[in-house]
Amino acid sequence: MQPPQPPASQPQTAPVMARPVAEAAAPPPPPPQPGAPAPPPPPMAAPLPPPPGTLPVPRPTTPIPPSTVASLDALPKTAMKKVRLAMIWFIVSGIIYIVGGSILYAVLADAQSKGIPVDATAMWSFIGILWVFGVLAILLAIVAQVRVLGLMNADKWDTAVDTMMFLAIPGFVFGLGLSGIWLYSYNKKMRKHPFYLRALPPPTPVCERCRMPVQWMPAMKKWYCPNCKIYL
Ligand SMILES: [Zn+2]
Repeated sequence: MQPPQPPASQPQTAPVMARPVAEAAAPPPPPPQPGAPAPPPPPMAAPLPPPPGTLPVPRPTTPIPPSTVASLDALPKTAMKKVRLAMIWFIVSGIIYIVGGSILYAVLADAQSKGIPVDATAMWSFIGILWVFGVLAILLAIVAQVRVLGLMNADKWDTAVDTMMFLAIPGFVFGLGLSGIWLYSYNKKMRKHPFYLRALPPPTPVCERCRMPVQWMPAMKKWYCPNCKIYL
């Protein structure tokens, strides 16, 4: 059995009777004196926030952990280096393809001059493929230079990163693998970088019923689903 707690040294509430009556009610404001400066006008009411749904929903920004900030800062420069490497490797691959085709052509011409029987049709198709691959590889190098490095220098990272993806797939074939690997891996990393994300439009709201994008109808002040033909 606990002994009864001693009463608190300070009473919780001061006796009301001790409070002077004059403090209980605030004195009324004095009437404006003639000739006295006018009191400042009341502050303007803050503009009302727009009703929900009228503005595109901003993209939720996920906080970046500090450990990755340094690597994120370095990423665009590294990505540019890798694109330059991929571009150079496209040129090297193009030269390899063209030289390879030319060597085959020399072999074919030599065999034909010596009267050695060769499958000229098969040889020619092989030579043709190598030469076409060579020209395509050099064209891809030009695209990488203009449409990726050029746009990165112009600070248009969204288009540049999208073009990296477009170049990565032929990079595996025409860039002898390496160009594709560099473009693909750094495209994947750059897609998570704020340089890429900031350029994306905000996501369009979708219909609750059919999950199709809805349109904002300013006259009705409502979202409209063209698929279900209903206002949400
Ligand atoms: Zn719908």
